[in-house]
Amino acid sequence: MGDVILVTGGTGLVGKAIEYVINNEPEGSRFGRKPGEKWIFASSKEGDLRDPEQTKALFEKYKPTHVIHLAALVGGLFKNMKYKLTFLRENVLINDNILHTSYLSNTKKLISCLSTCVFPDKVEYPLNELNIHNGPPHESNFGYAHAKRLVDVQNHAYNEEFGCNFTSAIPTNVFGPHDNFDLEDAHVIPALIHKCYNAKKNGTPFVVAGTGKPLRQFIYSHDLAKLFIWQLREYDSVEPVILSVGENEEVSIKQVADAIVKAVGFQGEYSFDTSRADGQFRKPASNEKLLKLMGGFEFTPFDKALDDTVAWFVANYNSARI
Ligand code: NDP
Repeated sequence: MGDVILVTGGTGLVGKAIEYVINNEPEGSRFGRKPGEKWIFASSKEGDLRDPEQTKALFEKYKPTHVIHLAALVGGLFKNMKYKLTFLRENVLINDNILHTSYLSNTKKLISCLSTCVFPDKVEYPLNELNIHNGPPHESNFGYAHAKRLVDVQNHAYNEEFGCNFTSAIPTNVFGPHDNFDLEDAHVIPALIHKCYNAKKNGTPFVVAGTGKPLRQFIYSHDLAKLFIWQLREYDSVEPVILSVGENEEVSIKQVADAIVKAVGFQGEYSFDTSRADGQFRKPASNEKLLKLMGGFEFTPFDKALDDTVAWFVANYNSARI
């Protein structure tokens, strides 16, 4: 029997990207499907992972040998600030169910997903894998952040007490097809794409909140998918790995907005609302550990990844999460 890889959260931004890569890279290649492998991409409709019985039933149905655990309650700043207890509790429940069921089912390997936004608020930059727990997270997302940090604590405990091969990935800001483009609750790239698309459609100005100066690292979901597949196959330590582009690949919000204007083909009035808050100027994460372990990786150029994302959004406007 070949390996069965269960991807929880398989219908989200990152899950869909892993599905794309597994179906499109040459079979047997570094990121392609291995002969005999079966991949399952589960949505919440297959089982609500907040519930232990439904989680157990999902594992009994597919009998996964490996799990990439992406399912989570995720949301933008506003939702994180408003629903701190909900973010804490639901993510703790989901993660505990997945980790414990993986242990009870003798799963050979489990990779869970943290995020660079769970790092301490006051911390030395660039972020690295050693300082996740060295201080409280930003108060705006402390529910989500503590739930995610606890996964790393649990991974170590399962590893030490039961020898489980559990680990975690720490992605930076992700974007790509199948993202959440909801104007109220999306991350910066999908929100700006949707705004610019509306401005073009309605002949209204495209206004970007803030000065456009802050710098951020963004990873294309298809690149992140390859890094998860690498981690599944080639990385065997409990310690987390940051999955990100390099510090020298930060882009400003203005560069993002310029690229969106170009990709959308928007020719109307375009400005920055400098009365709106900017957030932190930069919060770079180091991908040194990743590149050293992988022996290098070629990231998709930002403009190309953005063009592909905009093209996907325009083609799938009627079915996208908006
Ligand atoms: P999405 O919001 O796109 O997808 C979330 C997925 O989780 C969906 O498949 C959803 O299923 C599933 N899900 C949510 N709640 C439950 C539940 N109770 N039971 C079962 N499944 C559930 O998320 P992303 O793809 O953006 O994120 C994937 C992971 O990456 C998350 O762990 C997130 O914290 C992390 N991450 C994301 C970043 C980003 O920029 N997007 C940055 C860093 C980390 P359904 O479709 O049925 O609702």
